[in-house]
Amino acid sequence: MLKFYNTLSRKKEEFVPISEKVVTMYSCGPTVYNYAHIGNLRAYMFMDTLRRVLKYNGYKIKGVMNITDVGHLLSDGDEGEDKMEQASRQLKKSPEEIAEFYTEAFMKDLARLNIGKPEIIAKATDHIDDMIAYVEDLCDKGYGYFTGDAVYFDIGKFDDYGKLSRLKLEDQIAGARVEVNAKKRHPADFALWKIAEPNHIMKWDSPWGLGYPGWHIECSTMSRKYLGKVFDIHTGGIDHIPVHHENEIAQSEAKEGCKTVDYWMHCEFMCVDGGKMSKSLGNTYTVENLIERGYRPLALRYLALNAHYRKKLNFTFEGLDAAQVSYLRLLDLCFKHKNSKEPTAPETIEKYKKEFTDAVNDDLNVPLALGVLWTMLKEKPSRDIYSAALDFDKVLGLSLDKPEPLKEEKSELIEIPEEVAALAKERQLARAAKDWAKSDELRDKIAALGFKVVDTKEGAKIEKI
Ligand code: AMP
Ligand code: ZN
Repeated sequence: MLKFYNTLSRKKEEFVPISEKVVTMYSCGPTVYNYAHIGNLRAYMFMDTLRRVLKYNGYKIKGVMNITDVGHLLSDGDEGEDKMEQASRQLKKSPEEIAEFYTEAFMKDLARLNIGKPEIIAKATDHIDDMIAYVEDLCDKGYGYFTGDAVYFDIGKFDDYGKLSRLKLEDQIAGARVEVNAKKRHPADFALWKIAEPNHIMKWDSPWGLGYPGWHIECSTMSRKYLGKVFDIHTGGIDHIPVHHENEIAQSEAKEGCKTVDYWMHCEFMCVDGGKMSKSLGNTYTVENLIERGYRPLALRYLALNAHYRKKLNFTFEGLDAAQVSYLRLLDLCFKHKNSKEPTAPETIEKYKKEFTDAVNDDLNVPLALGVLWTMLKEKPSRDIYSAALDFDKVLGLSLDKPEPLKEEKSELIEIPEEVAALAKERQLARAAKDWAKSDELRDKIAALGFKVVDTKEGAKIEKI
């Protein structure tokens, strides 16, 4: 039996999809104003594991992920500057160029981490008309009101507001630092459509004037458009529970008059040295940064798979070192089994398959499933064990079909001084902005410290000169 923890009920529930064969699923995607950091990518590795487990159980999937290339202001309460426009000003590029560049970088990260792309990738800017129609419908139904500066959702009209986070409204408002706005009927009313300030770059015509959509409306609109009135699973990071998903529920249920998502699933955060990892705190790492330091992207995936998705994962380089060593051992063991012609008793293989399936089907208990894989691989080399490992890899996505013998790869893990890593990061930004002079200057500074940056197919790597 397949069971998932549903944030809405706070319980593990048996998974029963609406249609027997195709699971419908929506995942909140990235805001493409910067590189995704490894915390963001944890959320997508979780989405990927969920998709893989569903497929392992014989389901087909219709999955949608949005790309937020518009709006999404600096605070959760939809106040402050537009993140896309801020990046656009800083890098002297149009918001469209910024979005295209970081979307491509995001897709590259997904590929490097063996994260399968959802069937439909929906860009917010391609769905502005759908969003306007959605907001008009909410206004017709009495849930939206226009104040002259924005169309707001009237949460006073929606009795169930707060059912996902189970927070009292006052606590949610305090948590999200929603600014008091005298024109709103309630401080927690949120923008469905905002009228653009004169210097705002990204804006579209609408029945209320030139403006742009609120962040939350994007997900309600696009999920409804591709997946219908009600769909099976909605995923995101836990930070989305109190404001973004609460607002999505309000908009969607107000429009449809019924429950619109059956299972809400959320991934816990990845922290750094015990604290929060976030772009605004400047303590984030990208996959590129890890490659520069000699790590394989799949070592990060291995690290992430070792923590249950509902548990915090504390990222440290010591942890990543250990993950890389274990991952290389895993590939080495697989290599030995691959080269064996010996069989293993079918009952033994069946026993491992059952243990593995029971683990992943119990709310994606991948850490336990990895334990099963290790125990199995420690048996004497056998081609049947190799086939079973490949079968498990449909869920794990660790490229076990490309096993390799252990070499002294640890020597790749050279100590990179913080100063060199910071300069390399800066060089990466300079290159992204096509500031070649600055990039060359930074390369020279790095060389003066005894290191060089080599641009490889996998990304830039730092090596000792
Ligand atoms: P954003 O691009 O900021 O909208 O975030 C993209 C996804 O990453 C969302 O699902 C967030 O919930 C998730 N996320 C952000 N920070 C972290 C983190 N430190 N650990 C895990 N997930 C995160
Ligand atoms: Zn969303």
